[in-house]
Amino acid sequence: MKEADLHIHTTYSDGTCSAEEVVKIAKEKGLSAIAITDHDITDGICLAIKIGAKIGIEVISGVELSCEFNSSEIHILGYYINWENKWFQKKLQVFQKARERRAYYILNKLRELGYSIDEHMLMAKASLGAISRLHFARCLKETGEVGSIKEAFDSLLGVGRPAFVRKLRITPEEALNMIHRVGGVSVIAHPVFGGSHKNFLKKLKRLGLSGIEAYHPSHTLKNIKRYIKYAGDLGLTVTGGTDSHGVKEEENPIGSMRIDYRLIEDLKRANSFNERKNRVILSTNKELRPQGGYKSV
Ligand code: AMP
Ligand code: MN
Ligand code: MN
Ligand code: MN
Repeated sequence: MKEADLHIHTTYSDGTCSAEEVVKIAKEKGLSAIAITDHDITDGICLAIKIGAKIGIEVISGVELSCEFNSSEIHILGYYINWENKWFQKKLQVFQKARERRAYYILNKLRELGYSIDEHMLMAKASLGAISRLHFARCLKETGEVGSIKEAFDSLLGVGRPAFVRKLRITPEEALNMIHRVGGVSVIAHPVFGGSHKNFLKKLKRLGLSGIEAYHPSHTLKNIKRYIKYAGDLGLTVTGGTDSHGVKEEENPIGSMRIDYRLIEDLKRANSFNERKNRVILSTNKELRPQGGYKSV
């Protein structure tokens, strides 16, 4: 049976494996297809696709965007995105810059709290692109100031903890529009962490959401069954992935959870359906055209 992993981070965001390593590991683990889904950055996709073509792994272009609804953070995955689109890249650069500014706020907060975060160590870990709280957690662990990554989030970096700083806020609608405007198909990531109410999912579906990431390492069997049922009820496709951030057990290694390749066929069908629909919308609605003049958030 062909299997896939549709949620993987690289060193371009907060993963610890390079794009090249990710594809090679996926091959070693016997996967047929993967998606590169870094936070707010797409720089790993091109190389991953090239290496994938060479060694026989299908690599799907992806991204993971964070948005906010009723003060809770929701993550939206975009697949089959035309990542090279200039407008899209400009938007992502705004998010990356905002992450950088936020990192300085977090750094100051940690220093005020007496933690000796080394800026060089931090930048070395996050030099390629989108900096995240996980980079801070890794620094704190490395210097022994916390015992584990979990402890770093529970005591300092998690929501409401003393070194917590919000990310740039965008709405779910904005995230979905971004993905759809570059020909992508949108999927709500790990709904157990936010956005799992059926009415909310219904609202997202009306805004063009195509799928639910039912298979995720943080989902219990009960969660998985519930999200599959929601998908059936709402006409959404089901996807899944490891949300891999590296090779260690706590980083959800690639290959530690697999989905049936047939789910990718559903996603492709959803995408070609959207493409047909969007072609009509784009040709009639000037405002929705991706190129030119769009103000950054
Ligand atoms: P950010 O995008 O900067 O808000 O950072 C969030 C990232 O940190 C997520 O993408 C996860 O990779 C990681 N993360 C968030 N919460 C935890 C947690 N409790 N334990 C471990 N990693 C976490
Ligand atoms: Mn992450
Ligand atoms: Mn996420
Ligand atoms: Mn993720």
